[in-house]
Amino acid sequence: MNVPTREHGFATRAVWSGRERCAATGATIAPIYQSVTYTLPQAGAPVDFDYSRTKNPTRNFVERQLAALEDAEFASAFGSGMAAVAAAVSLLSNGDHLLATRDLYGGTHRLFTHVLPRYGITTTFVDTTDLTATWAAATPRTRMLWLETPSNPLLRLADIAALARTRPRGVLIAADNTLASPFLQRPLAFGADIVVHSTTKYICGHSDALGGAVISNDAEIAAQIAFHQNCVGAVPGPVDSYLTLRGAKTLPLRMGAHCRNAQAIAEYLAQRDDVAEVFYPGLRSHPQHELATRQMSGFGGVVSFRPRGGPERARAIAETTRIFNLAVSLGGVESLICLPASMTHASLADAERRVLGITDDLLRLSVGIEDIDDLIGDLDVALH
Ligand SMILES: *Cc1c(COP(=O)(O)O)cnc(C)c1O
Repeated sequence: MNVPTREHGFATRAVWSGRERCAATGATIAPIYQSVTYTLPQAGAPVDFDYSRTKNPTRNFVERQLAALEDAEFASAFGSGMAAVAAAVSLLSNGDHLLATRDLYGGTHRLFTHVLPRYGITTTFVDTTDLTATWAAATPRTRMLWLETPSNPLLRLADIAALARTRPRGVLIAADNTLASPFLQRPLAFGADIVVHSTTKYICGHSDALGGAVISNDAEIAAQIAFHQNCVGAVPGPVDSYLTLRGAKTLPLRMGAHCRNAQAIAEYLAQRDDVAEVFYPGLRSHPQHELATRQMSGFGGVVSFRPRGGPERARAIAETTRIFNLAVSLGGVESLICLPASMTHASLADAERRVLGITDDLLRLSVGIEDIDDLIGDLDVALH
């Protein structure tokens, strides 16, 4: 197949976008161009490739694929999700103000609170589930609203379309779409200007390559991001680009399995008397279940819960499960369990975690694609 168009379905684009038939060999699968430099026909003549920090063919393939998955024009790939987050906020300058979802990924929170202030960029964390409260925190210097929806680890949602519609003039909306993946949610269609991914998670899907991406439909934003990508050089190597490209081909299949398993586990946990609280947008009891059904085409693979019995019981559960591995990260085919307060969100101050509701007894599951009976059986043993 030639490069698919926007008229093709998501699964077709996932499989076929990005690569092109290799002119030299006819290879069907995108080759790994493990070369840093390129022999030039002439000194100073314009060429597609001259140095791999600037451009690499394998990286180009995955960038085109990622743009296609978000239904977008432009994508720049980075060596990690955090490098992509840093690239997106490089659109801001000294004196600018950033609004951000309060319960953010721990690493993003650390960048916004420990690095950006040194460049004269200040951040106010807001409850982006509340439209009025969000814009009440805007100032004349506010230039960007940073959304993470669903948020990590409490799976709170922001209404992207409503926030985009009501934004003050001059405020860009950036959405970290890592937890949903482009299969379940496409923020640009709701009016966001920029989508950021940690491709390390669902897009790559096998926990074997770090990566990130900044995606948009705005040529000026895309040019600034590509300029930053080349200047700073936080690019993925050809092998990691290839692994991401390969993983993303099965995103629709994997995401379907993640959603089915996570829904079953959320319902199993919700009916147990020894579980105090379950956080999953696919449960009718989730305060934003209705928004989730409008904004997402599935509810994702992350389920958080709070068992009765306090932090000690939570720790015992996390250390007893056998299929659910005690590990940070999410979005891979394998199931993982973690204690956010002491693992992924340990860099937050105690008071900040308390405000967010990331208590010491909170457990987060990244539900994989294993057999559901095995997963529930594993939790059943650990909860007993
Ligand atoms: C993991 C993650 C990141 C950071 O990505 P890395 O690839 O680990 O650098 C950013 N945002 C969210 C929501 C994440 O889950």
